[in-house]
Amino acid sequence: MSFRASVLTLFPDMFPGPLGTSLAGSALARGDWSLEARDIRDHGLGRHRAVDDTPAGGGAGMVLRADVLAAAIDAVSPADDPRPRLLMSPRGRPLAQARVRELAAGPGAVIVCGRFEGVDERVIAGRRLEEVSIGDYVLSGGEIAAMVVLDACVRLLPGVMGKQASGEEESFENGLLEYPHYTKPRDWEGASIPEVLLSGDHGRIAQWRRAEAERITRERRPDLMTRRETSEKGD
Ligand code: SAH
Repeated sequence: MSFRASVLTLFPDMFPGPLGTSLAGSALARGDWSLEARDIRDHGLGRHRAVDDTPAGGGAGMVLRADVLAAAIDAVSPADDPRPRLLMSPRGRPLAQARVRELAAGPGAVIVCGRFEGVDERVIAGRRLEEVSIGDYVLSGGEIAAMVVLDACVRLLPGVMGKQASGEEESFENGLLEYPHYTKPRDWEGASIPEVLLSGDHGRIAQWRRAEAERITRERRPDLMTRRETSEKGD
């Protein structure tokens, strides 16, 4: 069974979008994963197919209705759906490679894209939605965030990227950012490739890469370094 993604959105035309090109697109065409984008408005109420209403308690903007969203979810994801249901949300747990790996190893995902001020709080518990954030900034809707989640998952599916994506050396895979890469030409605008990489000495090369990955992580993401040291102690 391949990875099945169902996206609930008010803008189904945004899909597959960038996920239809390059690696994700060829994997989609091959059937390594599937994607359905469902219009939440199909479950809208009344002549105008209303999906949102004003926030209880007052304030700016509109909120996606719990009843409408629940009906849209139930139409693609029955109660015994083994797939996790994600709600894209700036309040969610920040997406990290470990969760991406788990998702990619599973049956797929149902992804709810918020719009306006967000969704009625009751539907989150009522349909067991896992809130996922792609970073500490606010987008206008969950669609691009859903694409981020799916792109990160799909490249890990078997056969999509070859052994590159499963490599232990990629950023975050070992709690470190990746070491620097170089390719031809050997000299470019007066800058050369570090001598060790041209030495053919695989031991020295591995050692250099490791040291560079640690240096870059310490400089740019001391938080990752601390987390790593703590978890090494815990092991
Ligand atoms: N009022 C909300 C923001 C709503 S933005 C708040 O202050 O938290 C509208 C929708 O965009 C959200 O419902 C969510 O689905 C999506 N979105 C915005 N920023 C996001 C982020 N950083 N990660 C994931 N989804 C996001």
